[in-house]
Amino acid sequence: MQKTHSQVEDCLSLDSRTMARYKVFNGGGGGSWVWRKGSNQEVFSSISYLYSNNGLMLQYTCNDQQYSYTVDVVTTPCNYGGKRYWFNCPKCSKRVAKLYLRNSMFFCRTCHKLNYMTQQSCKLESTRAGMYKIRNKLNWQYDTAFMKSWHKLKPKGMHHSTYNRLVQRHDELERKSEQYCIANFHAFMNRHGLKPSWE
Ligand SMILES: [Zn+2]
Repeated sequence: MQKTHSQVEDCLSLDSRTMARYKVFNGGGGGSWVWRKGSNQEVFSSISYLYSNNGLMLQYTCNDQQYSYTVDVVTTPCNYGGKRYWFNCPKCSKRVAKLYLRNSMFFCRTCHKLNYMTQQSCKLESTRAGMYKIRNKLNWQYDTAFMKSWHKLKPKGMHHSTYNRLVQRHDELERKSEQYCIANFHAFMNRHGLKPSWE
């Protein structure tokens, strides 16, 4: 099967205010909406969009499935003239500024029941994804925590400076993902009214 749209990952969000600032809703037309991250602002995900008649059509591939649907765009007047743009959530039709991609669909926060815990696990997932990307690049052959120290080797032909930069970034992501893991655990305990026994 030929891929026509880019593959997107969960935990992305669309903000009508940002899109308005980038003139997506001016006059209509289509393009790609991209997400960047890291200090070098590397593009890590993108979707195709087409705006016409107050509808924003989104097209993307998620988990090897193609998606294409239209999100209604509405406006409210601003105090100082001009207008503000909003989305109508494709699921509940509530007027919102932000839609979140979870389970392959862009819905509002309420529809996805996004709470602190899922936000943390979002962060955890994307941190881990970044970490694994670097490991692949460096061709490190491990996946489990206890093998960690044995396989940190510089690939042949890679510059020392590049290698050091990647290792530094990797270690930073590793630290972060450990923090998110702990935060997840605490959020879970709190939700269930439990207290860790060492507290
Ligand atoms: Zn909704």
